[in-house]
Amino acid sequence: MRIVFANSAWVSAAERLILRGGGWQSVRLRVRYGLIFHPAAGPVLVDTGYTPEALVGKGRGRMLRFYSALLKPELNAAEQVLAVLKRFGLSPDDIRTVVVTHFHADHISGLALFRNARFIASDAAWARVKARSPRQNLRHGVFAELFPADFESRLEGLSAKRRVEAREDAPAGADLFGDGSVLAVDLPGHADGQFGLLFAGLDRPLLYAVDAQWLLAALIQNRTPGFPATLIAEDAAAIEPTGAKLRSFLAAGGEVLLCHDPAPTSHDLAPEAA
Ligand SMILES: [Zn+2]
Repeated sequence: MRIVFANSAWVSAAERLILRGGGWQSVRLRVRYGLIFHPAAGPVLVDTGYTPEALVGKGRGRMLRFYSALLKPELNAAEQVLAVLKRFGLSPDDIRTVVVTHFHADHISGLALFRNARFIASDAAWARVKARSPRQNLRHGVFAELFPADFESRLEGLSAKRRVEAREDAPAGADLFGDGSVLAVDLPGHADGQFGLLFAGLDRPLLYAVDAQWLLAALIQNRTPGFPATLIAEDAAAIEPTGAKLRSFLAAGGEVLLCHDPAPTSHDLAPEAA
């Protein structure tokens, strides 16, 4: 099973906002998303990264326009989801599954591009999105206009998936494809319903921990940023236990990949030869 990650955009943030004890200098963060070639499910997207829909789309509400003006993400044209699919000879209609790790804009921006896809996501978190007013959703970092109108009818909830117990070297998870190849691991703290993906069958098990932290150093060196990062967290008290779970996975020999860490990894798509 081939797994690649691509960088949809760059976003800059002062290091001290994302790393306890960090400096004032700005760090250029990636905004990764993944593409899995699953033997039965075919090509599967893991989120969509930033796409023009969240940044310049006409259907955006006032708050989403404000949010993108504030963060100023810089789209990476060469690794936008449609360009990367094309590199693999795929069109958006070839995507039958999009795994949605959580509902923040940089993860769901391009969902509407995939007309034939089912969405694997937290059905519990989706039920809460539906129960909240638009204004309440904004406080949870959810811009409802980014969901396709038929999102719910295409939603395949995590709660229906088989649970796999924790092992000494791997956390518990939900078996996404019924073959143990990809487990959804709960990562509470950052966003409502956030889960990561554990690829346990690789030579070195890999856990894509999405936004459990922005920087790998914050996780490894136990330097979780305080205020104001805690202010935007869904559940600030859960961030440390989630970090501890990831550190024990690392200590058991696993590898952790984050969405936003700037350092290139062996899982990132190689730049296209000029
Ligand atoms: Zn997020």
